[in-house]
Amino acid sequence: MELESNELSVIIEKVLKEMNKKEFGKKESDGIFDTMDEAVEASYEAQKKYSSYSLEQREKLIQAMRKAIMDNAMEVANLCVKESGMGRVDHKYLKLKLIVEKTQGTEILRPEVYTGDNGLTLIEHGAFGVIGAITPSTNPAATVACNSICMLAGGNTVVFSPHPGALNSCLTMIRILNKAIKEAGGPENLITSVKAPSIENTNIMINHKRIRLVVATGGPGIVKLVLSSGKKAIGAGAGNPPVVVDETADIPKAARDIIAGCSFDNNLPCIAEKEAIVVESVYEELIKEFKKNRVVYELTDEEAEKLVGKVLNYDEKNKKYSINKKFVGKDAKYLLESIGKDAGTGVECLIYRAENSHPFVQEELMMPILPIVKVKNVDEAIETAVEDEHGNRHTAMMHSKNVVNLTKMARAIDTTIFVKNAPSYAGIGFGGEGHTTFTIAGPTGEGITNAVTFTRQRRCTMVDSFRIV
Ligand code: NAD
Repeated sequence: MELESNELSVIIEKVLKEMNKKEFGKKESDGIFDTMDEAVEASYEAQKKYSSYSLEQREKLIQAMRKAIMDNAMEVANLCVKESGMGRVDHKYLKLKLIVEKTQGTEILRPEVYTGDNGLTLIEHGAFGVIGAITPSTNPAATVACNSICMLAGGNTVVFSPHPGALNSCLTMIRILNKAIKEAGGPENLITSVKAPSIENTNIMINHKRIRLVVATGGPGIVKLVLSSGKKAIGAGAGNPPVVVDETADIPKAARDIIAGCSFDNNLPCIAEKEAIVVESVYEELIKEFKKNRVVYELTDEEAEKLVGKVLNYDEKNKKYSINKKFVGKDAKYLLESIGKDAGTGVECLIYRAENSHPFVQEELMMPILPIVKVKNVDEAIETAVEDEHGNRHTAMMHSKNVVNLTKMARAIDTTIFVKNAPSYAGIGFGGEGHTTFTIAGPTGEGITNAVTFTRQRRCTMVDSFRIV
């Protein structure tokens, strides 16, 4: 029996409609799954599709992600503060804007080429595949946004295990990014996560056979966990950044910069000034300059003692302090109110003349409290700063016009980031040159991470051919 051409068209139309129905009937994924296993498997399938994307196509998706982050920055900043109870909306907005403007994309995936008598060798940056990333409560959506751009630029897909204390902030950012990717013509599930993250889920993710690289941004516990996973791991851990001020510094500028850095996002950033070490000849002058700034309040010994009792817990048995998380990232006003002090509106930073052994100096508080330690000279300042940094080799600052002193400090402290004569955030490209990141991998040495960090080197050699001279 022969079909008339019009009958054939009807049948084809019907079949196409059915196929479309199936496609449309399929529930669209926003990247958030019930179980970690589903999140990882979906990421694996997505990466298979994504691996055929050209660099130009990847970059198109990244541009769409940048736009979506910017379009939603204020809403997400608000959500982060509301949900986690930490940090400042204005500064969280600035962080997201910085990510949009200064996170590097595919443009840095530059190949290396060697040519010689034996032909040509090419080294390129290949994807790992599926990456498992753990994000901190202190910087939730910004870490998701920045990691996603870098990891996708490297050709990977990523499964996030967010901190439960900032879950909605992270999942909201993941949904925003996936929607932007889809609208720009990309595959679904390039970025996935789970509805209810937990330590158990994090462990499932780390040990999952599909996960080829694990990246942890957080405190010492999680960095240790990923480093003992037996897989390639990148650890971006804790810091306790000191700022040194010597007698040659521009004191009014140093005072402004230190307060700006210390109070940024209520001191949550791992790079923020956590203690100041100041030579005695300029100690009083610096404190005078600090106090000219109406956002600064100087704590008395009695107030500081009361505050220690609030913001720190003391373990008598092990003679150790730990942070009372209730106070992490809180406003200076909230900290003062906790000890029954009302300093009026506008206070953003609490300063305190401290001994170097004081827990405000030694503990990574992540609160807008700046202990200020007096030392005899620059050599003692550098030695003290090295001691207070606790070997994290994370971040340090110095205000000085003496090149010899600056160089001495840079060498002695040996940190991933060393900022001279500027607030700490200049070290991640905010008012300073260079790209940004919110995953500063000190312990494993990748430093200011970018797309190249999340790639594997691949080498291809052609003997005797392709050389053109
Ligand atoms: P955290 O270590 O408590 O948590 C980080 C992440 O690890 C969270 O997702 C948490 O759920 C998970 N986690 C922690 N312990 C775990 C375990 N035993 N098993 C499985 N998962 C575990 O840190 P936080 O309070 O959320 O963040 C603050 C810390 O992160 C600070 O020490 C800060 O310096 C550091 N930090 C570092 C960087 C960097 O780039 N180096 C950036 C931001 C924050």
